[in-house]
Amino acid sequence: MNFDLETRYLEIQREALDLARKIEHIAVAADASNDLHPGMLAALQKSRLSGLMVPAEYGGRFENIDPLAICLVREALMATSSHMDSLFALQGIGSYAITAAGSDKQRAEWLPRVARADVLPALALTEPEAGSDLKAVKTEIRTKGDRLVLNGAKAFISNAGVAGFYVVFAKEDASFSIVLVPADTQGVTVTPSPELIAPHVLGGVKFDNVTLPDSARLGAPGGGLKLVLATLSIFRVSVAGAAVGLAQAALEEAVRHTRTREQFGRPLAKLGPVAQMLGDSWTEVEMARLLAYRAASMARRDPAAALPQSSMAKLAASEMASRVVDRCVQVMGRWGLVHNSKIERLYRQARAMRIYEGSSEVLRLEVARELVRIVP
Ligand SMILES: Cc1cc2nc3c(=O)[nH]c(=O)nc-3n(C[C@H](O)[C@H](O)[C@H](O)COP(=O)(O)OP(=O)(O)OC[C@H]3O[C@@H](n4cnc5c(N)ncnc54)[C@H](O)[C@@H]3O)c2cc1C
Repeated sequence: MNFDLETRYLEIQREALDLARKIEHIAVAADASNDLHPGMLAALQKSRLSGLMVPAEYGGRFENIDPLAICLVREALMATSSHMDSLFALQGIGSYAITAAGSDKQRAEWLPRVARADVLPALALTEPEAGSDLKAVKTEIRTKGDRLVLNGAKAFISNAGVAGFYVVFAKEDASFSIVLVPADTQGVTVTPSPELIAPHVLGGVKFDNVTLPDSARLGAPGGGLKLVLATLSIFRVSVAGAAVGLAQAALEEAVRHTRTREQFGRPLAKLGPVAQMLGDSWTEVEMARLLAYRAASMARRDPAAALPQSSMAKLAASEMASRVVDRCVQVMGRWGLVHNSKIERLYRQARAMRIYEGSSEVLRLEVARELVRIVP
């Protein structure tokens, strides 16, 4: 067993840290905005890191998409900017259905542009009445002659309004299918989303009699759920990477503060309960990091088989990040509460991670189901 990252991962990590350093000066502004920040997009394009989201055959960096590399990049980016983390992550989450099930023509048309971040993808699953229960979607595909007609409304879709295409999950007869819808297709409109505690490029998308060729399908009719699962198998663990990066950044802020601020004649970091919170937090960050790297490593070899471990890592790391950043705010006293300070931004940004890409409660159910299945 080897706990050290191989050279190619260290190289990717170094590139991600380099990108994080370059965008630091615009992070506060970008993270406060619901609109795409042009400086962030330009920096991502220049970094070539979105090439990790596409196989080499279509302009990507590695032969296959590598969950460990993505995990490491998200860890580095999230520590600096949630806007950049999301922009990077969506290049993969939003396009993976094309990689996994697109035709040669669809892959050749979209994936090289995704790799260069010349086009931004979006994955449209959620609806006003369908969140964790994806099978409750009402958006529907009907066949009309040799055409497909799409009707419905999606909500809380990352990249809505700036995406070049939407990968849309919809009902078709008694099952579910996925279609690729270019954003400029007639009948597609973007609607505003409520503003979140931590701003995010987000919107609703309406499909009003959107007419598509049969070749707009991704995968076979009825293969929608399988394709969503395939996407989660690769990308769910990367949320754990981002959560670890966030928690590490929060902890470093707390250490810098408590090392220098004195109360009762001693640095805060040496007062028992404060030291205990710092010690517990570092331990929990390291535990989550190990779990995330291991699950990502397993997902690299066999994504579907590793999904329980990926779910565990996402559950553990996102819950850990919330706990750690809450303690960090606590030990920083009133400075932990200053709006748009680094620690306060991290505090707000941690919260959504326990909800998207599988809420903690739903993940616990999945993990428990797997445990009951495998124990002899
Ligand atoms: C920042 C952000 C970005 C997002 N981006 C996208 C995107 O790009 N594309 C997209 O499709 N969606 C996106 N979403 C939506 C996200 O996927 C949903 O919020 C998520 O699936 C949870 O659904 P919900 O919010 O409707 O909560 P609900 O499903 O209504 O759940 C509410 C609560 O009930 C609990 N619960 C639900 N079912 C069960 C159960 N069976 N057992 C126990 N507890 C349960 C949940 O854990 C949660 O605590 C985004 C959301 C956010 C916050």
